[in-house]
Amino acid sequence: MSYVGRFAPSPTGPLHAGSLVAALASWLDARAAGGRWLVRIEDVDLPRCMDGAAGRILAQLAACGLVPDAPPLYQSARGARYQQALDKLVACRLAYPCACTRRDIAQALAAQGHARQRHEELPYPGTCCPESGKGLGGRAPRAWRFHTTQYQSKQPPAPDSQAQAAPFSIANDGVRWTDRRLGPQQQDVARHTGDFVLRRADGLWAYQLAVVVDDADQGITDVVRGEDLADNTPRQILLQSALGLPTPRYLHTPLVRAADGEKLSKQHGAPPFDASRPLQALAAAAQVLGLPAPAAGAAATVGDALAHWSKAWARIYNRAP
Ligand code: GLU
Repeated sequence: MSYVGRFAPSPTGPLHAGSLVAALASWLDARAAGGRWLVRIEDVDLPRCMDGAAGRILAQLAACGLVPDAPPLYQSARGARYQQALDKLVACRLAYPCACTRRDIAQALAAQGHARQRHEELPYPGTCCPESGKGLGGRAPRAWRFHTTQYQSKQPPAPDSQAQAAPFSIANDGVRWTDRRLGPQQQDVARHTGDFVLRRADGLWAYQLAVVVDDADQGITDVVRGEDLADNTPRQILLQSALGLPTPRYLHTPLVRAADGEKLSKQHGAPPFDASRPLQALAAAAQVLGLPAPAAGAAATVGDALAHWSKAWARIYNRAP
């Protein structure tokens, strides 16, 4: 299978030092594998997108020598494909409508004795799940949810020996997968997030569905992205399986933290990286990835530096240069 990688920024603002790490890593991995590298603009959450941010991101990437091998794909143009995927899940009874507001969910969880911890993501309590016997109960549907609990519970138990030989496996106690940097991972998705949203109450497509459909349609073999998204991988593996789509390999890159220890993010006001000094910006990103700096004077241009880091990346991640 020939390698296809991607970088999938959300155009909620220009790229910062942390997003450049993921962009550089995905580009290096594709180059080191002799594969193709694509860019997907994840503008599915339109209210959060910023005018002009997609163009600015592409210009920042180009200044760093990171040029996609095909024109970028825009999620905002892909609603029909997401609808087909939802229809397929509905037809298999793996998606159901949900009438709950955030408040309904919080109340139901409180009644079940769940106290919400800071930053904790609580599972959907299953209020509208057809098996709960209640369903919508005459209320108007707002969102669509994936029937995680049903899908996961129908999987076979994980055999002991299955340990981590396969890149991923799905069992009735959750999803196991091997991240190329983080190693073996496991998550009980039914307990962790439960029946998660595919289409939101405001009609927007949820990230989980869009990313799975797009990765498959773009023929992505390797997802390389920031470690903050590692937690989403098991939900995506379940959806790929339910939709009969292939599961790519995953590699999650280290995060860049601000002085207060928080992950750099646009929401927390991280400044854009300085694209007028691409060598410096790339060198900082390469350092986060543990790639050695080129010898003094050996990489005068962005092209030289990228060639140097491609070789180093290939050595570290066992790919032929
Ligand atoms: N659009 C997501 C973000 O900017 C990345 C999604 C992905 O790489 O799967 O955080």
